[in-house]
Amino acid sequence: MSIGVLPTSTLAGRFFLCERVAESRAPVKTQHRNETPDWLNTPAQQERRTQTHGLLLAWYSRYGRHTLPWRHTRDPYAILVSEVMLQQTQVERVLPKYQAFLARFPTLAALAEAPTSEVIKAWAGLGYNMRAVRLQQIAQEAIARYAGALPNTLDGLLSLKGVGRYTAGAIACFAFDQPVATVDTNIRRVLWRVFRGIEPIVWPAGVSDEREALALAAWALPGRNTDQARVEVATQPSSQSEQSDAAQAAYDWQQALMDLGATVCQSRRPACEQCPLTEVCAAYAEVAALTLFPSGEALARLRDERAALSEHPEHTGASEHPQPQMGQVAETRAASTSDANTTRETPEIDGNSRPTATVAKPRKATQPFTSTTRYFRGRIIATLSELAAGESLALAELGLLVKPNFSPDDLPWLRGLVDGLARDGLVRWLTGKQDDAAEEARVALP
Ligand code: SF4
Repeated sequence: MSIGVLPTSTLAGRFFLCERVAESRAPVKTQHRNETPDWLNTPAQQERRTQTHGLLLAWYSRYGRHTLPWRHTRDPYAILVSEVMLQQTQVERVLPKYQAFLARFPTLAALAEAPTSEVIKAWAGLGYNMRAVRLQQIAQEAIARYAGALPNTLDGLLSLKGVGRYTAGAIACFAFDQPVATVDTNIRRVLWRVFRGIEPIVWPAGVSDEREALALAAWALPGRNTDQARVEVATQPSSQSEQSDAAQAAYDWQQALMDLGATVCQSRRPACEQCPLTEVCAAYAEVAALTLFPSGEALARLRDERAALSEHPEHTGASEHPQPQMGQVAETRAASTSDANTTRETPEIDGNSRPTATVAKPRKATQPFTSTTRYFRGRIIATLSELAAGESLALAELGLLVKPNFSPDDLPWLRGLVDGLARDGLVRWLTGKQDDAAEEARVALP
């Protein structure tokens, strides 16, 4: 088999960020036309795809995270809950909250009808509390518009405010057995590395980039007619059993990609030494062409060096040769990958961990988390969550509970924070908001 490695210049191409973090209304309309990029329509890539299917699905069968509770249900509501919780939050933190949340709100209707304050309280510990409000709004809209259930089509799911392309695709595939491609940051990174090469350190966002990533994910999806490009609906099986096979293959494939991205093919610490895809991976082949001892560490360093050179080409002294020659990439077997299995990558999906940093650059001093707006918003919600139903706090009382050394001078700052939370539907003002005596204003959960 001969698998060519794409020119590294293709890495400069724009790409998009389709992840669980930005679940606004989907920017990409449903499309059924062939959008497979030309670089995928080659015998070498098709061979690579076939081999990757076998290798990755075998790995998933043995090492996949099959015990995750949301993989033991096809209930669309439960899968929606899990997907929203997993945005910006590590699996370990989601696990206990997922079960408790479903116990408290076992159905879409139960969630839709609950007091918002109860939903926010049940969300405590997960952070990004806006997700709780949005989740309830999704439930309420589905109840009102779709006869009490989540719609079972991609377009129907996308029509719900707050459901983005990733979540819609995940529910369609994981709950409704549809062979629909979806892309989160783990899927995006693994597919890019395997089929294109070393990824850019910054993933630019754009509609065309999103289409390209979806086209790659759809093209890579296993199932019947795998040589046909598919963007939204992967296959049109002619029999029920073929449909079932295609749906199961899509389910396993996408879970496998997510698992590999989360545990092996991590962004900053790819553990290529433990990966089942080294023999087919384009990124690994790039590294192997430059060093006798290819490794995940070498891959990450090469990516970072390229990023640094693209920012400071004068350091190369030869601008017509923009790619580094592995000058600083370790020519020894990487020893520092030993933490690849113990250091969890912060879920990029969630957030805020878009791959932007280059390790070649000095780290900027970071603001202590306990002084950030996000921290104090969380403190306010946590404090109000401890109140009994019907209770509220005066703004000054709230200040004393959320900020050490709170003083009257802090009231305008606190009022601004509470105003923002009120606009997001996370708290509500009672009497006194307009009063000049801000300490008399009272606030509670919705
Ligand atoms: S060989 Fe390395 S870069 Fe390629 S998929 Fe595996 S872990 Fe990722």
